[in-house]
Amino acid sequence: MFTRGRSRMEQAFHIIIGVKCPYCSRFRSPRDMIAMMGGAQICVQCELRHIEALDAMANGVFTGECSECGLSADELRAQNRCGQKGEMAVHFENGRYRAMCLVCDTTYVPKRLDLYGKTEFSHTNKLD
Ligand SMILES: [Zn+2]
Ligand SMILES: [Zn+2]
Repeated sequence: MFTRGRSRMEQAFHIIIGVKCPYCSRFRSPRDMIAMMGGAQICVQCELRHIEALDAMANGVFTGECSECGLSADELRAQNRCGQKGEMAVHFENGRYRAMCLVCDTTYVPKRLDLYGKTEFSHTNKLD
């Protein structure tokens, strides 16, 4: 039986190695990860971005931060990184929404061809 006591290895693992969030691909402390249904994990920040995106879609006003550059809604407007009325691009990935400014959106989409490569999205945007 292996139920009694924690090995040294296991403790070291929790301290040294972070957990890679599958949504933002950043390494987080295990304490900053939230377990989701089905055994998947998401970091606190991605979950927050998800809630902000839901709020924005419900209220029509985005008040959160860009999930890519991390600027606040006020800063995004000041720097013209979103639309004139504060429009944000919203991506839906693996059951979670994330909003990003239009500047990040144009550079993010080509980076994620693995996601959009074989969809209608890339088809309709194809340069002929
Ligand atoms: Zn994350
Ligand atoms: Zn941005």
